[in-house]
Amino acid sequence: MIARRRQTKEVAVGHVVIGGSNDISIQSMTNIPTKNVEGNVRQICELFEGGCEIVRLAVTNLEDVKFFAEIRKILRANDIPIPMVADVHFSPAIALNCLEVADKVRINAGNFSDKLLGPQSFSDDEFLLGKDKLQKSLGKFFRRAKDLKKSVRIGINHGSLAPRMVYKFGHGDVAMWESARECLEVAREVQFEDIVLSFKTSGVKEMIAANRLACSKLDEMGSYYPIHLGVTESGNGDYARIKSAMGIGCLLMDGIGDTLRVSLTEDPIREMEVAKNILQGCGARCYGIEFIACPSCGRTSYDIQSVLEELKSHLGKQTGSRNLKIAVMGCMVNGLGEAGDADFAIIGSPNGTLSLYQNRNCILKNVSRKEICKNLTKICQLKLDGT
Ligand code: SF4
Repeated sequence: MIARRRQTKEVAVGHVVIGGSNDISIQSMTNIPTKNVEGNVRQICELFEGGCEIVRLAVTNLEDVKFFAEIRKILRANDIPIPMVADVHFSPAIALNCLEVADKVRINAGNFSDKLLGPQSFSDDEFLLGKDKLQKSLGKFFRRAKDLKKSVRIGINHGSLAPRMVYKFGHGDVAMWESARECLEVAREVQFEDIVLSFKTSGVKEMIAANRLACSKLDEMGSYYPIHLGVTESGNGDYARIKSAMGIGCLLMDGIGDTLRVSLTEDPIREMEVAKNILQGCGARCYGIEFIACPSCGRTSYDIQSVLEELKSHLGKQTGSRNLKIAVMGCMVNGLGEAGDADFAIIGSPNGTLSLYQNRNCILKNVSRKEICKNLTKICQLKLDGT
């Protein structure tokens, strides 16, 4: 359970509001060129159906801005209201143009006006020159965002910090924070507030440290910008999922995080299930029935794996106004105690039969697996329907 969610201000991205007491939203990004309008529309529709609440597209040149607008037009014509974020690197000019067509523009603090390939050492004057250049281009960008009432994510990525920041503050969380702070100073000068911040690294420890440092600094300053969470370049398969769950989950348990993206080197639709599981596992959002089950041992006298699978197949995708927890336990030794906070618990008896408990009271005693699954499915469906 999340102890206390960090206080943040609300930032609107189209009709979705990030921060405050709003649900922690799920984001994703399409993984095909933006000029592939049809493919992007298809991918975004699928993501939207799968639970994605904000979608991001790469905008790499001015042509892409037009494709972005076209994709948006098609989606809106098909009643797909998903907020759209333009992802821009390297070019203040493209970022400015994107403000006209996107709900939010994501920029990278490290390459907005700095060059990533360049000198590795900087005199004080050279450092200030870089800062001055950023202030000019970012100030113009923020002013336009403010006029158009668009929001901005300032992305701080460990792998693309400006060389002058690395030279001055090292290659770690301090440089990441200083990079954000420099951008926030510009935002304050032009009184632009609709900002979401992210601090991403491919290493879980570094990502957690960077977010914790940034949030403690922001809180000291009384700056309650919402935080976008993600472990970047986490790869694919189980390992990527575990890394994302550790990094994002740990911060959510700290109360940090207002929106998230699970980055997988897979079809983006696969990110949805992981994001939902992280949020539900942390107690941050509920996407359906929560199943808990013991691992089973020598005391288990029935096929616990198949009972769990059968219940999940009947009820796993059910959602409703009630949050339900079902425990499937092998035996009475720890069963009822471990399942104490579950709404329903199935517990095996040594003779192979099963009993069903509701709030620790036995409502079906020593029945077959078939009977218990049928009854529990029916009761849960009635509860989820609110009847
Ligand atoms: S609940 Fe019973 S069957 Fe399950 S692991 Fe514990 S002791 Fe074993």
